[in-house]
Amino acid sequence: MLGPPGAGKGTQAVHVSATHGIPAISTGDIFRANIKDETELGLQVKQITSSGGYVPDEITNAIVRDRLAQDDAAQGFLLDGYPRTTGQVEALDEMLGDAGHQLDAVVELTVDTDEVVQRLLARAQEQGRADDTEEVVRERMRLYAEETAPLASRYKERGLLRRVDGMGEVAEVTARIEAALEDVTRSAPSDVPADGR
Ligand code: ADP
Repeated sequence: MLGPPGAGKGTQAVHVSATHGIPAISTGDIFRANIKDETELGLQVKQITSSGGYVPDEITNAIVRDRLAQDDAAQGFLLDGYPRTTGQVEALDEMLGDAGHQLDAVVELTVDTDEVVQRLLARAQEQGRADDTEEVVRERMRLYAEETAPLASRYKERGLLRRVDGMGEVAEVTARIEAALEDVTRSAPSDVPADGR
């Protein structure tokens, strides 16, 4: 699932994950958990994430590789917030190739950037999240536009991209995503067992 900070990827990922019975894997959540637990990884990435930067590909790719190797991801998974750079796209292709898997779809949640910045700032205030100052939010948006948004065209060329309007009620957006995914499953079945289950 692609989309700028504040687009609602995490919220939608939970719904899609429940509907399809696959784990939602969020690199942001993994980093936050490690920071909270003060693990070695957490200490390594704390400064970077709190300033709105991207964790180096080497670290992020290794984490995703480990996570995808866990049993619950063997029958499918949803990635939220990964890949975010061309290096991560290439690493993911390699991981999936090694495992004999392929991406079924890339959902890009499109939003009104100005509205989303306001949303993020409001949330930061409500929750007292010191990591979401205006400066950090703007930096995250800038990085997204520069590094991550261009990935959509790469996936478009591969016929994987499904652009979904991310504005509106949560349930409305969920329904749009499901409609986009239904189409994908019908036009490109993959990993369907021979007995048709
Ligand atoms: P948001 O989408 O609001 O930026 P996330 O929860 O997805 O929040 O990520 C939080 C932070 O974790 C990011 O700002 C970034 O520093 C780091 N991060 C998450 N995913 C990646 C990734 N794929 N590559 C590099 N850094 C990442």
